[in-house]
Amino acid sequence: MSMYPLLEVYLEKIKDNAYKVLDLCSSKGIDLVAVVKGCSAFPEVAIALMDAGVRFLGDSRIQNVKKLRKAGIAGPIMLLRIPMLSEVKDVVELVDVALVSEISVIKAIDYEAGKLGKRFRVVLMIDMGDLREGVWPTNLLSYLDLIKGLKNVELWGVGANFGCFGGVLPTPESVSMLVDYASLAREYTHFDVPIVSIGGTVALFLLENGVMPEGVNQLRIGEAILLGRDATRERKIPYLRQDTFLLKAEIVELKFKPSVPIGEIGVDAFGKKPQFVDKGVRRRAILALGKQDVIIDGLFPQADGIEVLGGSSDHTVVDVTDFPNPLKVGDIISFELSYGAMLMASTSPYVSKVFFS
Ligand SMILES: *Cc1c(COP(=O)(O)O)cnc(C)c1O
Repeated sequence: MSMYPLLEVYLEKIKDNAYKVLDLCSSKGIDLVAVVKGCSAFPEVAIALMDAGVRFLGDSRIQNVKKLRKAGIAGPIMLLRIPMLSEVKDVVELVDVALVSEISVIKAIDYEAGKLGKRFRVVLMIDMGDLREGVWPTNLLSYLDLIKGLKNVELWGVGANFGCFGGVLPTPESVSMLVDYASLAREYTHFDVPIVSIGGTVALFLLENGVMPEGVNQLRIGEAILLGRDATRERKIPYLRQDTFLLKAEIVELKFKPSVPIGEIGVDAFGKKPQFVDKGVRRRAILALGKQDVIIDGLFPQADGIEVLGGSSDHTVVDVTDFPNPLKVGDIISFELSYGAMLMASTSPYVSKVFFS
């Protein structure tokens, strides 16, 4: 198998990010759930995070949880995606806490936990406006009524998501409302309900600015630790590293060509009408890297003077006219990645992976 495209994973840099995020959390008495789904839960990354002091991991897929268990990770794992009914049995066996929002699933968890003779912890998700998962607040009491009657389910906490589907930014006001729902749940059920859990990375901003409401005691963070970025706020997090994952691809053609295609323009292989700016004749490199490997829009060239023009399933075209150093076919171009690009590159079987400690 050829070596490129190659995903390089820098474990020490990821650990540095984890230290910083852990510090920020612990200064406010908040527990961190480090989310590893963005790199398909590479066990090397999970182990590095535990080395850095992370005690709680989160992932959205039961296959990834299985992979982590197989790699010997015995510590607590939270399942982030609300479970499929068809996977509840595995969930109860393999994870320690699940986020939930559906009555039928909560009942199925109760049933399977009963069979195993255990009490299973759930965090009831409440939709605070992002419109992904979560109980609508006006229906909260009926869910609490149900959970009160179940023997094998422990209502460990309430939780919410921000910046995931609707791109909604958490505010001190919206997060305070979640804290209030936690109080309501405690009064109404007479359970402890010790955890108020929010995520993801977009919520870190509240901690940085000292406006995280009292009562939040768990943060679920992935992107900041893995990539040092906050996609929802479109920022590089200034005190974290972004060069944690590098994708390297090889040049297979290097030629001067016009910057606008010749002839009438239809749509590309993916049904999009490409747009071109006429910059005259440019020097362009074709890389052996495509949409089967990565999200091309999420490639950020490490060197100055390189611009990604676009690509197709197996090719990426970059403009290298302004790159100051000599280049030839066979040379390697290196990219930092967006969250989506990291996700795809780590998942693609066509991308080789190498880990540096
Ligand atoms: C992915 C996910 C997170 C982490 O989000 P990041 O933006 O990567 O930090 C937190 N909570 C839930 C429920 C998630 O699905």
